[in-house]
Amino acid sequence: KLASREFHPEDSVFEVKGIKIGGGHLAMIAGPCAIEGEALLYEVAVRVRDAGANILRGGAFKPRTSPYSFQGLGEDGLKILRNVGDQLHMPVVTEVMDPRQIELVSRYTDMFQIGARNMQNFDLLKEIGKTRIPVLIKRGMSATVKDLLMSVEYILSQGNREVILCERGIRTFEDSTRNTLDLSIVPNVKGLSHLPIIVDPSHATGRPDLIPAMAMAAVASGCDGVHIEVHSCPEKALSDGPQALVPDQYARLMDELRRLAEVM
Ligand code: PEP
Ligand code: MN
Repeated sequence: KLASREFHPEDSVFEVKGIKIGGGHLAMIAGPCAIEGEALLYEVAVRVRDAGANILRGGAFKPRTSPYSFQGLGEDGLKILRNVGDQLHMPVVTEVMDPRQIELVSRYTDMFQIGARNMQNFDLLKEIGKTRIPVLIKRGMSATVKDLLMSVEYILSQGNREVILCERGIRTFEDSTRNTLDLSIVPNVKGLSHLPIIVDPSHATGRPDLIPAMAMAAVASGCDGVHIEVHSCPEKALSDGPQALVPDQYARLMDELRRLAEVM
């Protein structure tokens, strides 16, 4: 298998617009769940960049549970993300939900995100595999490690070799957190695959009070980065407000993560 350690014994290291990911290089991805407007995205982006984030995230096409919830700004959102990323010299990552969006999204993004709900959208994976834009693929909420790695094969086998995995929590009986963070996936995948794997403690816990500890644990487990949602006014966020860190909390967490990386 193309993702396996047997196929490629060394850790893969990818470069997204000058930012290395893998082999000890951490992707610190941060930004709001959804792109809501240029002023807000810029404000959050400056703060997370100053705190040490190296990739800016924001959704323009949002996979909402309810069709009546905010669905994202679409192309207007992509334009905003591109502008803000360029102004701050940050690469950007955004979700693509449908093969018909690939051409449009590829004009604006440096990395595609495949969301948890689309991890087994095989037609989407095949089409993404035909591009040469790096991909962040999130684990489906009831996908096994094997399922995730087979989904990755759909992308790799089409020729796109730059795939980064993301653990974002799985559904279990536990309901005091949004999902259950399966941190053992990090060393588990490291044994099986050469690909980088990052952790998203925001969607995994849904709780700002738990995100810092889980981000620390993720980095200690040997992952290749963390993905965190940040909003300057979580009460007013149009998507995933309750799990957003405010910029000050994110900056404090990044200080702690740097101290941890130093002692490691
Ligand atoms: C997101 O990153 O905002 C998102 C929708 O994540 P997931 O696909 O992991 O639910
Ligand atoms: Mn979100």
